[in-house]
Amino acid sequence: MAQSAILHLEGITKQFEQAASPAVANVTLTLQRGDLLGLLGPSGCGKTTLLRIVAGFEQPQLGTVELAERLVAGAGCWVPPEQRDTGMVFQDYALFPHLNVAQNVAFGLKKSRGKTTGVSIKERSAEAIALVGLTGLEKRYPHELSGGQQQRVALARALAPRPALILLDEPLSNLDVQVRLRLRHEVRSILKETGTSAIFVTHDQEEALSISDQVGVMRQGHLEQLGTPEDIYTHPKSRFVAEFVTQANFLPAQRRGHLWETEVGLFEVGRLDTQDTSLDAGELMLREEDVSLVPDDDANVTVCDRHFLGREYRYFLETPSGKKLQVRTTLNTQILVGTRVKLSVASSSIQIFSTTAPISENTPALPSKIA
Ligand code: ADP
Ligand code: MG
Repeated sequence: MAQSAILHLEGITKQFEQAASPAVANVTLTLQRGDLLGLLGPSGCGKTTLLRIVAGFEQPQLGTVELAERLVAGAGCWVPPEQRDTGMVFQDYALFPHLNVAQNVAFGLKKSRGKTTGVSIKERSAEAIALVGLTGLEKRYPHELSGGQQQRVALARALAPRPALILLDEPLSNLDVQVRLRLRHEVRSILKETGTSAIFVTHDQEEALSISDQVGVMRQGHLEQLGTPEDIYTHPKSRFVAEFVTQANFLPAQRRGHLWETEVGLFEVGRLDTQDTSLDAGELMLREEDVSLVPDDDANVTVCDRHFLGREYRYFLETPSGKKLQVRTTLNTQILVGTRVKLSVASSSIQIFSTTAPISENTPALPSKIA
């Protein structure tokens, strides 16, 4: 493990009793100190379970968890949650309704009194409250605060004991869109300012891409891809990641020499998702924003609809086989519904995905008795 890793998971597998498949399957990842990992994936893919394993609320059947180079789970070791030096923030804030802001924040400190020697609980909670911009509201009760303010209190409560790692489980999902957009960048700045490492779970791809240093995409318990936001967006490893993270269209394609043929034309392709250079059929990915539309009476794609989105147009297209495609263009491209168009795409942005890609390599066999 690298010197600066705050978290290292090795082959983590967790299957709940009576479940047909593991909620978390063979997950290995390393988070560097000070980094923010965005954990992204559809509902039920295992994000919360993985966070709870890191926090110590769930025990994996296989694999090891190391926090700050200390083994805390697996290989015969078990460190309980209160000794793991992690903080948690939940989607529903989970504040104590009968405690005011200052008391809610101080609660986290009372639990970890050992770490606050030399500084009073009052000072430490005032500092955390200032960090999240709530100074002056210390005497308010949760019901006297907006959703965004309540979530700031939850963040302050988690930050006050200065944990090595903060785990945020969809912290912004209950907030309306304006608050969510503002708060996500504030959360990132606060974490960076305090040098706190974090895992931020979300099912919103834009949220994950815009605030994370690393993004992990989960699918059915597996960590399908881990990389920088740019990596994940420009080089998705699988069709699943491409569909989840980018807005993309897929067309069946066959290799024709150095080109790939689809029902809407021949394309030069920048990348394959496999090392298998003999691959001769697959799914060709066209991202919505990478396609230019060129009116052409001889073309076989028809513009069915056009939506004005303010900054851009979204065009709805139909191929000869009846497949629907979506494309976004600048307002300079004004094409009438009913027009036939050719699709023009830079080869560097086109990828082919092998159609039969498995979910992930291998799921290890579980011990016969599930803990
Ligand atoms: P996510 O947070 O990505 O929505 P979860 O980690 O909550 O996903 O759930 C992953 C899978 O594990 C789901 O199929 C869910 O139903 C199941 N699961 C989660 N917690 C439990 C539990 N305590 N007992 C049984 N099954 C669970
Ligand atoms: Mg969840």
